[in-house]
Amino acid sequence: MGGQVSSVEGVHVVVVGGGFGGIAAAQQLKSEGLSFTLIDLRDAFHHNVAALRASVQPGFAQRTFIPYAETFGDSFVQGRVERVDTERQTVILQGGREVQYSHLILCTGTDGPFPGKFNTLASYQTAVQTYEDFVKQVQAADSVLVVGGGSTGVEMAAEIKTEYPDKKVVLIHSRIGLADPELLPSVRQQAKEVLLEKGVELRLGQKVAALSELQLNVTQRNMEVSTERGETLTTDLIVCCTGLKVNSAAYASSFSDCLTDSGALKVNQHLQIQGFSNIFAVGDCANVKEPKMAYHAGLHAAVAVSNITNSLRGKELTSYHTGNITMLLAMGRNDGVGQFNGLKLPRSVVALGKSRDLLLWKSWREMKQTQP
Ligand SMILES: Cc1cc2nc3c(=O)[nH]c(=O)nc-3n(C[C@H](O)[C@H](O)[C@H](O)COP(=O)(O)OP(=O)(O)OC[C@H]3O[C@@H](n4cnc5c(N)ncnc54)[C@H](O)[C@@H]3O)c2cc1C
Repeated sequence: MGGQVSSVEGVHVVVVGGGFGGIAAAQQLKSEGLSFTLIDLRDAFHHNVAALRASVQPGFAQRTFIPYAETFGDSFVQGRVERVDTERQTVILQGGREVQYSHLILCTGTDGPFPGKFNTLASYQTAVQTYEDFVKQVQAADSVLVVGGGSTGVEMAAEIKTEYPDKKVVLIHSRIGLADPELLPSVRQQAKEVLLEKGVELRLGQKVAALSELQLNVTQRNMEVSTERGETLTTDLIVCCTGLKVNSAAYASSFSDCLTDSGALKVNQHLQIQGFSNIFAVGDCANVKEPKMAYHAGLHAAVAVSNITNSLRGKELTSYHTGNITMLLAMGRNDGVGQFNGLKLPRSVVALGKSRDLLLWKSWREMKQTQP
């Protein structure tokens, strides 16, 4: 049959979370002509892939938030989802508002420390201003300690050193290998080489002691930071890039039997949550064995929406298959490392394809709005 399903009586899809998975799902529902509600706690989509550039370049943050209402109109509702009542097929928001669904797509993603993430109930203006204020903290510091050498920490250290080459930047990481363990060893090695070329000091196999007691993201001259080995580092600014956690608050009480230890939702190959044919999990909150990436969240969304339309048309469901890993790390605006479909890419290709614009064009195009 193909084509649009068009508005089907009794069908209303609720999408919880307007991150990369949520906006992809909402756009596809819109183009299928299906009735839907997208719910997010902010009023603007956060292209957090570019959050670290927004932390160092004044004026950049406004490009990283895209208002939902201009794209989705009344189909967007701002609020925090607190639970799901699967018997009444209703989503319950903070304050008591309820939204009924025939099909539900959960894509609440992950939370983590600012500046990599900004999962706060805040307006567009406040969100942008928070990043602009942080840029001033970075500018005021002569030295910065980046804690955590996963992909976010590596990109953060590279962004600071590229924008402010005279600042001392130290990256401390509990392991010896930098960036995502699922990357090719040669790509991880190259990330290390680029950081060293840029002049970032590496402290590998070391951990900061009592991290939770340190003041993050605020510049104060000569703060002392102890490592678990008993060494002392001195820095003006501490930026934390560790500790991403699945955002399960919206659904944990309703799906306690379908959760992994990390709070991710157990899904089958159709991305349906175990035991529910009309409820899907997409993106970082879905327990799919692959790196948590915006790119994958978009692919999941396409499968979830196809399976809603397939089930309405009485067609077979589509399965999600993981593939070879494609991952690009921006090492500042002028350099990058990464792999495509399991093959290492030249630095210049990553710099051109990702680091210059951080794929912002893709999200603005998806939201059908013009970048400021
Ligand atoms: C600094 C950084 C750089 C990255 N770079 C890349 C990259 O280059 N390429 C790549 O592919 N991936 C990258 N990633 C990973 C990528 O950002 C995530 O995989 C992606 O955001 C996952 O999308 P998602 O839709 O699952 O969740 P998110 O994007 O985390 O979105 C979840 C949404 O749900 C909302 N939400 C959460 N709880 C509630 C609730 N209770 N009620 C209402 N709304 C709620 C949040 O406000 C948020 O908007 C990066 C991550 C970081 C931190």
